[in-house]
Amino acid sequence: MSIFTWWRDGRRRRWLDQAFPDAWLDTLNANIWQYECLPTETQRKIRKCVTIMVREKTWVGCKGLKLSEGMKVTIAGKASLLLLGVEDFYFGAVQSILVHPAAYVHQPQATINLFGGSGSGPVGPRAILGESWSRGPVVLSWREIEAESRGQRLGRNLVVHEFAHQLDDINGGMDGDLPIFEHALRKRWEEISEMEYTRHLGAVQRGQPTLLDPYGATNRAEFFSVASETFFEQPHRLHQEHPELHAVLQDFYRIDLTRWIPSHVARQRQPASVSQGANEHSAGQRGEPTDAAAGGALPEFSELPELQNADDYFTRAVSFFLDGLAEQAVHDFTRARELNPNDGEAHQQRALAWLELGEIDQAREDCQQALTLDPRDHDALRTRGSVLLLQGEFSAALNDLNRVLDHDNRDVKAYYFRGRARAALGEPAQAIADFNEALAVHPHWPQALLQRGLAHHALGHEKRARTDLAKAHHLNPEIDAETL
Ligand SMILES: [Zn+2]
Repeated sequence: MSIFTWWRDGRRRRWLDQAFPDAWLDTLNANIWQYECLPTETQRKIRKCVTIMVREKTWVGCKGLKLSEGMKVTIAGKASLLLLGVEDFYFGAVQSILVHPAAYVHQPQATINLFGGSGSGPVGPRAILGESWSRGPVVLSWREIEAESRGQRLGRNLVVHEFAHQLDDINGGMDGDLPIFEHALRKRWEEISEMEYTRHLGAVQRGQPTLLDPYGATNRAEFFSVASETFFEQPHRLHQEHPELHAVLQDFYRIDLTRWIPSHVARQRQPASVSQGANEHSAGQRGEPTDAAAGGALPEFSELPELQNADDYFTRAVSFFLDGLAEQAVHDFTRARELNPNDGEAHQQRALAWLELGEIDQAREDCQQALTLDPRDHDALRTRGSVLLLQGEFSAALNDLNRVLDHDNRDVKAYYFRGRARAALGEPAQAIADFNEALAVHPHWPQALLQRGLAHHALGHEKRARTDLAKAHHLNPEIDAETL
């Protein structure tokens, strides 16, 4: 067992040792209808997955949405359905889960820049319920999840849909080619999905009713995600109408819900009629980056938020930033600041984007502005601390970071930067204490491992130094283990 696994597992064990909150249990019972039908052991597994996902993922409420614990538990609970048959896997590639209040849009420009363009004229604004980006993040509309939880979208499960894309992505590419390592099962999936996809495509093209969402005819990736929704939402009907598809998914997910869900409950969860042709839930409402370049006629709906106020730009900027598109993020943060000059957060966040682009002076100026608006803005203080560090003003950096940590002694990034400031000020032992705090929460943080290794080296702890550097190098080969 690697030291990271040991560390991470220790942290998870501590979480799991605590009692599962009653309020969370109420949420699972209220919003995950399958939960009460499951056997005790499987319910326990869901609670375990929920505990880890709620605690370990970065949850981002977009457009000012305040994410409650209930929302996180609902989303994690639905995603956990996909994990019931596997051990110790919690969508490791998905670090962030972004939640919009309602359906949202990508502007045409962004869509084209991001995904290479359609080559067939401009793509209209797309109403999107959810997205799953390769190697994360997952983006979801809370209004849709809430409606599904209330039973207003029978047969649908947006969270299952988007997280199924993440499973598909494990072996590279969201393409319906699943990460199955057992040869016979893999072959069966290829054959059955080929046959079922062709059949589904034909039915949708002919406008015939289908049990699976017609959106599944878009491509193989969508077919798998849509089939997964039906597998978890209408297991009995899938078993009756597509027995082979049900069987192969049952072997893939290593779970059979038809055993546990009584047929009278299943009947209550059935949509009044099966999907027919392109319906209100089909293409355009939930998309993935792979869809975005496709263009074509996409439905628009009246409640679509226009990308015109500061919040809209801010939200999109955060999405850009999380996906490493710092330049686009700077653009949108700038627009957000123009529309709302008193938004300190836009200043602070733009500073981070400037840092990504290596524009250190710009970053410092933005932090300054954010701190003028609110001198106690801890995010801005932390960012300014990191900027001062880069500019060699170590005492000033230490001062900022001390203020952050005085306010919040769990701020891991502040620990990391303060460790670097202390190391630069010739205090390697104190630096190590800070890096330890950061690494206790993020054991896979290559930069923190590198810096702690260097601090150990400064103290003459060569063995520890080499261990840290080797790990840092293993996680990020650009870090040279022979640095010392
Ligand atoms: Zn999809």
